[in-house]
Amino acid sequence: MSVRIFLALCLLAGLPGLADAQSSTPPPQSPALASPAPLRPPTRADQLRGEYGRYRANNDLLSYLLDIRVDPERKFISGTNTIRFRMLADDTRIQLDLYANLAVDEIRLGTTVLESERELNAVFVKFPSPLKAGRTYAIDVRYSGTPREEGRFGGITFKRDPDGRPWINTACEGEGAAIWWPNKDQWRDEVEEMELRVAIPSDLVLVSNGRFAGKTDLGDAYTRWDWHIQYPINNYNVSLNIGNYTHFSDRLGDLPLDFYVLPGSLEKAKVQFAQAKPMIEAFQRFFGDYPFKKDGYKLIEAPYSGMEHQSAVTYGNRFANGYLEKDWTGVGISPRFDFIIIHESGHEWFGNAVSAADVSDMWIHEGWTTYLEDLYVEHRFGREDALKYINGYKSKVRNREPIITQRGIHRTPTQDMYFKGALFLHTLRSVVDDDERWWKLLKETFQQFKYQNILTEDLVQFFNARLGRNLTPIFDQYLRRAALPILQLAFNDKERTVAYRWEADERAFAMPIRVGRRGQWQTIVPTTEWAVTPSPVPKEEFEVATDLYYVNVVKQ
Ligand SMILES: [Zn+2]
Repeated sequence: MSVRIFLALCLLAGLPGLADAQSSTPPPQSPALASPAPLRPPTRADQLRGEYGRYRANNDLLSYLLDIRVDPERKFISGTNTIRFRMLADDTRIQLDLYANLAVDEIRLGTTVLESERELNAVFVKFPSPLKAGRTYAIDVRYSGTPREEGRFGGITFKRDPDGRPWINTACEGEGAAIWWPNKDQWRDEVEEMELRVAIPSDLVLVSNGRFAGKTDLGDAYTRWDWHIQYPINNYNVSLNIGNYTHFSDRLGDLPLDFYVLPGSLEKAKVQFAQAKPMIEAFQRFFGDYPFKKDGYKLIEAPYSGMEHQSAVTYGNRFANGYLEKDWTGVGISPRFDFIIIHESGHEWFGNAVSAADVSDMWIHEGWTTYLEDLYVEHRFGREDALKYINGYKSKVRNREPIITQRGIHRTPTQDMYFKGALFLHTLRSVVDDDERWWKLLKETFQQFKYQNILTEDLVQFFNARLGRNLTPIFDQYLRRAALPILQLAFNDKERTVAYRWEADERAFAMPIRVGRRGQWQTIVPTTEWAVTPSPVPKEEFEVATDLYYVNVVKQ
């Protein structure tokens, strides 16, 4: 049989938004994420930030004690981070990070003052004699300065609330935590726990991550607020929220829920934040217990849309459903819930508990959490609405660059990591084609990797082992290639047969898919080689379940 390769795509009906996806209009910005950097050669700063080189790999973080004073009038921060770490190799230097515009005032190991060398935002700390593998050390890094505001949410901003009171917030995932405090600013290694001691003017409130551990009047019109984070935490998740906050609380079983908003928002917040409980219940059902129980769950009003700060989710979604009062996926589902509460809190499971070990694998945060939105919709409103919701995301996908970027340079992936990442997981569910098994796999994945920093390879290996199948080419096609797989169909209506194959960059790509007539689907397992099957359904009526699998289809 002779087969002609079609150059033009002939899209099946029922692929909402795919045309939009191919238009040149830039899609709206994704939540809690700066625009991806345009493709350009990596700068020295990208390398210093992204490489897990010798002076990072030679040590393992144990804890931070960040003890600082924040002066709202001068927009000035000063203080000390005590960094405890275990050496993994004998060595005489380690790499820390602090933005170049902030001063390193002194670094000490006990009573010994240490030398350091700065290169852009990196700080290389030098020790007079080699630190020994296996031993634990603590250094005090004293610093000060006026942090620069930059990036989508400003990194750290010194604003005023509507009453003119100071309102200071951090959100620095894109810029890195080193924009306001010294730390080992990379994704692979996390501290096991952290203490924050932050002195602020006594008429303000400080809400941070972890459990509130008391406050002390310092007698100079400043009060020190103490918070204790009792779990591993990404540096960028460490968050200050300083303002004229008012507080109310609730419980979900033995999980404390604490809410902090400006006084003018209190009544609206009491209504809107009621969504926290069913959200946590939904995610607990899919994945298991809320992962930061000892630290509690908090929602904190902030002057930007929102961010998943661990156990201290910041919220600025105008106390309204949807995303910034818009129907986020354009299919009538997102106005039923508060996008920021659901999405940013979903990150407690994927992003905060299960974390990517490199920014190149950030889809583990964003693709998964976007998929969690869809699980929430399915749990609350049913399968039909969930299908509508997830397919609504097709209009936001561009398929121009792979989701996984190059490792070792700090480059935030394109926003396809959100929507295509979620559509990929949705597609995998159809590939597994056994919901009970799928739900079990999701829970096992979370339980296996919680409190760890992992790479995509770890997930692929786990999925392959649990399912006893080789899904690697499917993961690779969706995550490491730009183009969607295309299902090519060639009909012979006279013989009542259809020939099929995948056009994909991965030669070993083989993925089952449901085709034929809706309601009576037939599952075929195309590879990249042509195969033929009898089909009673003529070309014009022949459908592909593109609502269950995110693929393109060409009929000829
Ligand atoms: Zn997110």
